[in-house]
Amino acid sequence: MEQIEVLISEEEVETKICELAKQISIDYAGKEVHLIAILKGSVFFTCELAKRLTVPVTMDFMTVSSYGDGMVSAGQITIKKELDEDIDGKEVLIVEDIVDSGHTLMHLKKLLLGRNPASLKIATLLDKPDCREVEIKPDYCGFVIPDRYVVGYGLDYAQQYRNLPYIGVIDQK
Ligand code: 5GP
Repeated sequence: MEQIEVLISEEEVETKICELAKQISIDYAGKEVHLIAILKGSVFFTCELAKRLTVPVTMDFMTVSSYGDGMVSAGQITIKKELDEDIDGKEVLIVEDIVDSGHTLMHLKKLLLGRNPASLKIATLLDKPDCREVEIKPDYCGFVIPDRYVVGYGLDYAQQYRNLPYIGVIDQK
């Protein structure tokens, strides 16, 4: 049975999302931001962020898979659900739950840049820079965390724990 220890409380997450929303609203002033949520992990973050943005928002969803039900990156990416809408000319903001090796975002960024958006930026709730294998830096980041496997706030372990309202560290000892 896994033990879960709180790493970032619900209050801390919410405060940080408010700060990010404020900054993003300033940066996109006068524009419409097109959020691309990467399913399923970024759903909680995307909703909470979107609710607090003061600029016009449109949203789309994509499912990209780079992990199985385990905790180790397969280093491979498959698009399981495509976007519904064209991003040509749009101010795209990819919303991710966590950046680990960076492979997922590197692949996505290349793919989406090829579709001619007006701009393309990345917002992530969590970043594990110590795990980076490719050079990619999110434009907006909630928390930099150590190299630990985290769950909650949309993040799963074998499809469980996504509904935890905080970010927890999973320990299988
Ligand atoms: P990357 O391609 O950057 O290695 O991996 C990004 C994806 O791996 C994330 O969107 C997430 O689905 C998954 N991932 C990476 N680290 C963690 C973690 O600590 N916990 C969970 N639940 N998923 C993770």
